[in-house]
This record gives sequence, structure tokens and C-alpha cells, in this order.
Amino acid sequence: MTDQVLVINCGSSSLKFAVLDGTENPPILEGIADRLGSEHSSITFKHNGTKQEQRLYDNDHRAAVAAIKKWINEHPEADISLAGVGHRVVHGGETFSQSVTINDEVLKGIEDCSVFAPLHNPAHVKGIKETQALFGDLPQVAVFDTAFHQTLSADQYLYPIPMRLYREHHFRKYGFHGTSYRYISQKLSELDPAYGAENALIAHLGNGASVCATCNGQSVDTSMGITPLEGLMMGTRSGSLDPSLLSFIADAEGITMEDALNVLNKESGLKGISEISNDCRTLETAQAQGDDRAQLALDMFSSRAAKHLASVSTNLSSLEHLVFTGGIGENSPLIREAICQRLQTLGIKIDRNTNQTAPRGEISCISLADAPVKVWIIPTNEELLIAQDTLHLINQDTATTHSA
Ligand code: AMP
Repeated sequence: MTDQVLVINCGSSSLKFAVLDGTENPPILEGIADRLGSEHSSITFKHNGTKQEQRLYDNDHRAAVAAIKKWINEHPEADISLAGVGHRVVHGGETFSQSVTINDEVLKGIEDCSVFAPLHNPAHVKGIKETQALFGDLPQVAVFDTAFHQTLSADQYLYPIPMRLYREHHFRKYGFHGTSYRYISQKLSELDPAYGAENALIAHLGNGASVCATCNGQSVDTSMGITPLEGLMMGTRSGSLDPSLLSFIADAEGITMEDALNVLNKESGLKGISEISNDCRTLETAQAQGDDRAQLALDMFSSRAAKHLASVSTNLSSLEHLVFTGGIGENSPLIREAICQRLQTLGIKIDRNTNQTAPRGEISCISLADAPVKVWIIPTNEELLIAQDTLHLINQDTATTHSA
């Protein structure tokens, strides 16, 4: 049987995709359909080192999936033969604590979680339905960003608000970036066979940023909440702040609560403070040229990341590993050093030179040889884990059918 999987990440106006063979090999095909819903929508295909772009005249999710199918059919030399489709789903609520094969009941469960992810989950449902319509004979699997954190205990996932609000509405911390944390956790167990009985802090620092504490490979605390807004300062998100600010902003600016929330989600973070960009690389360049606001934004980012790492570490009895991942975590020696500088009380000591010269895209250990905590840079690969979960569930379902 083929072990190729089409991995789909459907947003409200975009659809990212990749075809993987379930190994660390680079994707056989990858691309993105952008600006869906507008008259300028297009789709890119990257294969064998070449990139093509096509206009999407029917500018919806169905057209994007149809274009992927057409590309595969028209390029037999790419030798793509799919075993299944894996969908990234942002919110699985309390319903999904692991990846599942999609059926009508699962689709309804994903729809029901839309209340907590109103932009993402409806887009996922749309993407899944279109894929089912066009790749009907292939099994489809959903992999949830929230699932890894379903191991949190009640004292960690509950907000200190009236219990009735949890009972009646499921208002609680869910956490995100779970697929990335699970991937990193697997890598750590390959790097250190003792990891299964050890504790780690993982910092996923990208445009969205969060941290997670793991004990025996399971999530015991994380910084994001019922939505990805809680926790660290991010590219455009404020992260945690006094919730009263929401009504102050709405009143002062004469805007609705929803618009005020948009300010916290889309106009804050690195972008809001620097008034330059949400992009860490751009800010590092500006800071090097003496821009004070870029410097302030980066300082605030690092100090909040360190603060949240220290905070989730209070759920661990010891600390053996700290891992940096995500676009910033993997590529910014400056941010890594600033964060580690603030975490010396946790036993974190890095070799500045190893940190500066760590090769991009590779696993590195940057801690000092005598430090009690190993500090790692581990590139994340969420698509690979989605492909592997998809293959695993397909094989499991096939085995069950045959033994039935
Ligand atoms: P992600 O959301 O994981 O794709 O990460 C995107 C973030 O990573 C952006 O803020 C980028 O500026 C940042 N990033 C990528 N490469 C670098 C780099 N070489 N130095 C600093 N930041 C980087």
C-alpha cells in the first residue's frame, strides 16, 4: 500500500497543503491557495525544486482542492498515489483527545467546537467536505491542535470563575500548538531514552507563540487558553493581560467588545509595540540599526516568554530539558539568549557561541556541558505528525476491518 498522505490546513481564506510519505523526507508536493473568496485568489505548487503559480478563477475552497487533484492527475511523473488525507483542526474541545478517522459524527463534533474557534473550525469543516467530495474514496483523518493538552489536570485547565460556567459552557483552558509539542516530545524521546521519565519545558515561538510543560511526555501545563490569545506576547496578539482592559478599550475607542478583541488579536504584540512589524526578523534588523521601539518590543517578547516558561515549570518536580522551536525559537539566537538569561534560576545556562552558530534547520544542543538542564533547538514538523497519524489510523482501521 502507498504511504503518501495529503496534509491539508484550511484557513478561512487560505488552504495550505503538502504531500508527504510519512518520513522526514521533504514533501513530494506542497503549496498554498491564497486569498480565497477574493478575485485575486491563486494557488502555488512546489515540486522537485520548481514553483508554479496558477490563478483560481472559481475562488473557493472547492476550487483549491480541485486544483490539487488536477495537478496530481496531470503530473504522473511526480508518482503521487495517496493513501489518505490528514486535516489539521485547530479546536477539538473536550470531545477529541487524539486524532480520529473522520465520519459524520466527527464532522458534527468539529462543527460543535466552532463556538471556540469561529474563524478556524468552520473553514476546516468546509475543507473536509470539499475533500470528501473530490477524494471520496480516500480515508480522511482529523488531527487537533488542542488534543495533546487534554492530559491537563482540572486544577490547571479550570479558570477560577464560577464552576457553573465550565459545567454549562465548557469554558476552560484548552491550549494549542499540541501537534508541534507532540512532535517535539517524540524527538526528545529519540534524543534521550530517559525522557519518558523526565520533565521538559517547550517554547513554540513563531508568529503565534506558546509554552508547554511536559512530564513523562505528557502535557501538564500550557500558556494558551480557551483561545490562542492567552499567554505569551506574540506577533500581533497581546497575550495575557488584565481582562478589564477589554471594556476600557471598547469604551475609550467607541468600538464593540468584538472589535476591541480584534485589537488584542490583530493589532497588538510585536506589531503593536514596535509600530513597525509583527515579524521578528524585521524587528531584529531595525533594532540593530538603533530603533528603540523594535528593541522594546523584542525585550517585552523575551521577558514574557521567560515569565510563562517559569510559570508552567511550577507544575514540574524537576527540569531536565528546555526546547526552542517555531520560526523564532529555531532561528533567533538573540531571543533564545535573552530568554535563557532570565531563566538562570531554573538551572539554564547556554553556550553563547554554540547558540549563535547553531546550524539552521537542524537539531542542536546549546547548553553548557555542566548545566543541569539540556537546552535544545529542535525544528518542528507538524505536517509530518499529521501524515503519520493518518497512516497509523488507516492501518489500524484496515486491521480492524480484516479481523472483523
Ligand atoms: P512561524 O509562525 O513559526 O512560521 O514563525 C514566524 C516568525 O519567525 C516570524 O516572526 C519570523 O520573523 C521569525 N523568523 C524566521 N526566521 C528568523 C530569523 N532568521 N531570525 C529571527 N526571526 C526569524
